[in-house]
Amino acid sequence: MSKWEAERAERNRRSIARLTKSLPGIFPSAVLSRALGRPFVPPTPRFAIDSYWGTHPLRADRLARALAARSGVPTGWSWRLGGSRKNGLPTTFRTPPAPYRERAYAKGPGFCCVCGQPVYRFGWHADLWNAGPNKNATWHCACAVAWQFWTTPSDQVGLLRRLQARRCGETGGRLWKTAEVDHRIPLFRVWREHRDAPWPELLGYWGLPNLQVINREAHVAKCSTEARDRRAARYSASGIA
Ligand SMILES: [Zn+2]
Repeated sequence: MSKWEAERAERNRRSIARLTKSLPGIFPSAVLSRALGRPFVPPTPRFAIDSYWGTHPLRADRLARALAARSGVPTGWSWRLGGSRKNGLPTTFRTPPAPYRERAYAKGPGFCCVCGQPVYRFGWHADLWNAGPNKNATWHCACAVAWQFWTTPSDQVGLLRRLQARRCGETGGRLWKTAEVDHRIPLFRVWREHRDAPWPELLGYWGLPNLQVINREAHVAKCSTEARDRRAARYSASGIA
């Protein structure tokens, strides 16, 4: 065993001891087995849960949208831009619409600002411990990972490539190293044409259903077509065309 391997084994031994000591009687078994199989074992239950969702962003994406569907849209809410720190509105249509992040609709501590559902112990989404909502939390671990995925999907390009069997989403050809993550329906069109779609279905435009990896040339071509359509739409809106 090399020095580095010995150090890692020692570190894992300490982490497992710490994790075992702080582990409650009830704990999601998938999270625990995942944690114990990591090259570096997370030393606390909370880290174990973070690490679990971190390695399952697509599961987190699905769960966050399902939880949001449980909350539904708050009465009177519509997707609006023009944010400031005070009102919590997004500044750009690139940010996923999230009513419960807006000051007027936020449910406060113990509720997730992404999906609006109660947050339980360790940021989990179900009350396995019968302890009620965790008043110190405003994010589910899963929703934090989903949010990250929705706002920077390019971080998961490797995962998305594997999902497409390394074929370009536009041409069907082999994906090159330089391939990029693309929104099938671009977000400017989501804002322009689907703005009034019900929330949380809107979130699907940021999640897996609207994401694909495409080769760079295909992406450039798609973007220039989109830009042309945008210009044409502006002209027709201004009555010039
Ligand atoms: Zn949530």
